[in-house]
Amino acid sequence: MKAVAVVPGAREVRLVEQDAPTIAAPTHVMLRMLDVGVCGTDREICAFQYGTQPAGAEHLVIGHESLGEVVEVGTAVTRLQPGDLVVPMVRRPCTHDDCVACRAGRQDFCFTGDFSERGIKNLHGFMTEFVVDDERYMHVVPHALRDVAVLVEPLTIAEKALIQIDQVQQRLPWSCEFTPGTPRRTCHRAVVIGAGPVGLLGAMALVARGFDTSVYSREAAPNPKADLVESIGAHYFSAQETSLEGLAAHVGNVDLVYEATGASAIAFQMMEVLGTNGIFVFTGVPGRKAPIELDTDLIMRNLVLKNQVVFGTVNAGVEAFQAAIRDVALFQERWPSAVRALITGRYPVEAYRELLTGPPRGIKNVLTFA
Ligand code: BGC
Repeated sequence: MKAVAVVPGAREVRLVEQDAPTIAAPTHVMLRMLDVGVCGTDREICAFQYGTQPAGAEHLVIGHESLGEVVEVGTAVTRLQPGDLVVPMVRRPCTHDDCVACRAGRQDFCFTGDFSERGIKNLHGFMTEFVVDDERYMHVVPHALRDVAVLVEPLTIAEKALIQIDQVQQRLPWSCEFTPGTPRRTCHRAVVIGAGPVGLLGAMALVARGFDTSVYSREAAPNPKADLVESIGAHYFSAQETSLEGLAAHVGNVDLVYEATGASAIAFQMMEVLGTNGIFVFTGVPGRKAPIELDTDLIMRNLVLKNQVVFGTVNAGVEAFQAAIRDVALFQERWPSAVRALITGRYPVEAYRELLTGPPRGIKNVLTFA
């Protein structure tokens, strides 16, 4: 079967032929891959800046945002049956006895760093025709989400962040009370930095939870991403037209910043306008560039005097996958054209090279295998 792989030794991205996997344990499930999303992480792996092939292998089959159809199940599988649509999780636990996170099934918080990630670190990924893995890593999605379920994995990043935001904000009176029957108001204000798929999906999740949401991104408006943002009831601000101070003046108290660009300079500048009791969430993984100057006194004063919290978040657990599946269904119902507009192209696997190594284009591009 065909698979898209990066071959670091040869500095190449190419199609490889692999043996189809087989069910080797009673809890295994075999998937026929339907859709595999292309993301910034895949592009970095294909630029040889990130990712590790499995021990002893010359290549790494990439792909971690996916949707598959169950075609075969092992004898001990109870939750799944052939015909089910599933989104597989990405990370697998380390094997250290003393990693309490991995031992508890929370490898997204692995302490040792010896976790693996399918398509990214030490394990082959999903950009291929068939995949076998344990039932416990599979999340069933309704058939009605067939065309959009490939968005579940990138949305899990925001869902995990939102779960943690809720936990952190239990430290203060935070929940918004609405009187049923009156027009819905928002009581929290969020800024999303970046209008890529992680940012736009994050903005949808925030709007769905009642945040007055603004997306701050490079491109001048009007542009298709700005239109998408406005169509879900959020506001778009271009860094070319609005300064950070201008943005803060529009927004009011910035309760939450959801960083989704991997651009550290703008992110840390944004930290200077984070509001009272605000939370700043980092999700991007920047490449290492030259150090920059920062007003650390101002940032530290604000952190203390405004009770601010800054945290980074990576990967996602079971709860975040379940929340993402529920939210994709909700987005689809509430904003069908915006959800459609997120997937800017579906391509046969042969288009892999251009999508992974060519100039970035569109929002979410998907390789189809079926
Ligand atoms: C993936 C995560 C992964 C992270 C770091 C992201 O692109 O969505 O599942 O943990 O990269 O490797």
